[in-house]
Amino acid sequence: MAATGGCACGAVRYEFTGKPLIVHACHCRDCQRITGGAFVINLWMEAEQVKLTSGKLKRFGLKGGTGQDHEVFFCGQCGTYLWSKYHGAPGDARFVRAGTLDKPQAFKPDVHIFTRSKLRWVVLPSETPAFKTFYKFDQVWSPESLERLRRQRGIKKATAVR
Ligand SMILES: [Zn+2]
Ligand SMILES: [Zn+2]
Repeated sequence: MAATGGCACGAVRYEFTGKPLIVHACHCRDCQRITGGAFVINLWMEAEQVKLTSGKLKRFGLKGGTGQDHEVFFCGQCGTYLWSKYHGAPGDARFVRAGTLDKPQAFKPDVHIFTRSKLRWVVLPSETPAFKTFYKFDQVWSPESLERLRRQRGIKKATAVR
């Protein structure tokens, strides 16, 4: 499965193949501010899966809720946020904003996080797990995604040694 997306002005285009490791709906205040919405839908992808096919990204450094670096990448022309890199997240991950996809319907959140700052009128589906802050990986992730993460971290370690 290949998915494509881009920014509002059309200068930046990207594509990825394969499934996200997990899909987060994050209700934290940072995500509300960055998106201007009630929450963000982030597709947690391995960095090497996401390919820029046109345009240029700019980056801006923020601090995540954990105090670790959070880089946001946006179109240099129109300012649309395409994805984030959270330095606190294991592996080399890109958190792709689902709203920038050509077909955002293709994905739905596996889990809602940081619901402590969820807007009160947002009603979450009862069948989707939700956490006031974050969760433990083995509580929420599929065995297949856990294995992919383990594999990627293994590769990263191996290249760091060389
Ligand atoms: Zn743009
Ligand atoms: Zn957030």
